[in-house]
Amino acid sequence: MTHRVVVIGSGFGGLFVTKSLRKADVEITLIDRTSHHLFQPLLYQVATGILSEGEIAPSTREILRRQKNVRVVQGLVETIDLESKTIGWRFHDEERTSAYDSLVIASGAGQSYFGNPQYATFAPGMKSIDDALELRARIFAAFELAEIADDPEEVSRLLTFVVVGAGPTGVEMAGQIRELANRTLAREFRRIDPTKARVILVDGAGQVLSAFGEQLGAKAERDLSRLGVEVVLHAMVTSLDATGLTLRHADGSTERIEAVCKVWAAGVEGSPLGRLVAEQAGATVDRAGRVEVNDHLTLPGHPEVYVIGDLMSLPGVPGVAPAAIQSAQYAAASIAARVEDRPAPGPFAYKDKGSMATIAKYEAVVRVGPLRLTGFLAWLAWLLLHLLMIAGFKQQVSTLVRWALSFLSNGRSERVTTNQQLVGRLAMEHLGGHTSGPLMRGEVPPDPVD
Ligand SMILES: Cc1cc2nc3c(=O)[nH]c(=O)nc-3n(C[C@H](O)[C@H](O)[C@H](O)COP(=O)(O)OP(=O)(O)OC[C@H]3O[C@@H](n4cnc5c(N)ncnc54)[C@H](O)[C@@H]3O)c2cc1C
Repeated sequence: MTHRVVVIGSGFGGLFVTKSLRKADVEITLIDRTSHHLFQPLLYQVATGILSEGEIAPSTREILRRQKNVRVVQGLVETIDLESKTIGWRFHDEERTSAYDSLVIASGAGQSYFGNPQYATFAPGMKSIDDALELRARIFAAFELAEIADDPEEVSRLLTFVVVGAGPTGVEMAGQIRELANRTLAREFRRIDPTKARVILVDGAGQVLSAFGEQLGAKAERDLSRLGVEVVLHAMVTSLDATGLTLRHADGSTERIEAVCKVWAAGVEGSPLGRLVAEQAGATVDRAGRVEVNDHLTLPGHPEVYVIGDLMSLPGVPGVAPAAIQSAQYAAASIAARVEDRPAPGPFAYKDKGSMATIAKYEAVVRVGPLRLTGFLAWLAWLLLHLLMIAGFKQQVSTLVRWALSFLSNGRSERVTTNQQLVGRLAMEHLGGHTSGPLMRGEVPPDPVD
């Protein structure tokens, strides 16, 4: 019988393990709860109206249409039984079981609110297309509401945007909201002046972009300040609600910021599938819910079960796209060796390819080995690399055209928002926790709570 490989997740990890097995004599089932491969690093451009969701999330089925040894299915994996080597999954109310000889778990990580999941209602994270479109609706709606508000305090609350978390996502998001206000919307309103909007970037650490080192962090902070972003460091969020948030500063003082639109770009939490398999295999999960794998990226006692990408915890390996891709290529090589009865590859070794983040148009920071780039050159490098990493030729071409139009005109062509996106999360609150599960299962939502 042909060796059956089940891959959970069609992110960087899942897609690259599947592609790397294209020549292997295996039967692959690739399962994801969505129908697309999401390029998460550009979600903030969807949220701020530069790109459309289709440009960063091509259909997985289409990407893999020529690869004959894979079957793509859309489904939410709910159970994994390491003993019987089966997984249980469903698409709405259709339930299925799939058996495997090798299993690759690449279900990634979600947003962590550090024990305060209630913040999610008022400060969406940045992990999915749903998140990005909901944020787009909230950002543009804040300007619209400010235009018709009469109370100056209300106008100020609506024109204050707070981004929590000064890693690459937070920095890019804050920079883009600022550019939107300064350049795109500057002359479009009659009663409000969008350039007067406040954009505040908050972090508990003492510098922005802490993973980039002190020098680049300081440069990014200066660039943000010049752009008009208020950077607040050494500050922890102690409460967050519909109309604002409270910060506790390093000296113990507290500050309330009135802001309707908040973005949460801090903290990750491994997919629940990690805990599920760790319990069965006796593996440990770290504080972020990621599974501590051995240096062959497998679970103890289960050399046929790989945990890769953002869901794996391995010293010195960060949760970034190159790590997901390299771990996927390693898992594929290991599976191919088993199928062909060859010796398994040696231990996994991660190669650090560096990091980069954009701050604004023509401004970015790049760290590659000992090399540090800033400004226009860094921005060009960022542009080129991200363009190359987008899956699909059509998506690459249309992204390039859209970037050219946006950068030359300061305009943004993806400003459509729908009512459903705007009220999405507040409506979901009525459905209770784990909303995507009930929605995918097609369960009738419980009666809304008042
Ligand atoms: C906003 C943002 C910006 C980023 N910027 C950068 C950057 O600039 N550079 C960089 O290198 N990295 C960046 N990253 C990190 C990078 O995107 C991740 O490291 C990478 O996507 C991890 O790949 P993965 O395959 O492990 O997980 P993911 O890409 O998260 O994929 C996981 C997949 O599993 C699916 N899934 C989850 N649970 C289930 C389930 N129960 N059943 C079925 N399917 C399931 C999900 O739908 C998803 O498609 C960024 C991440 C974010 C969120």
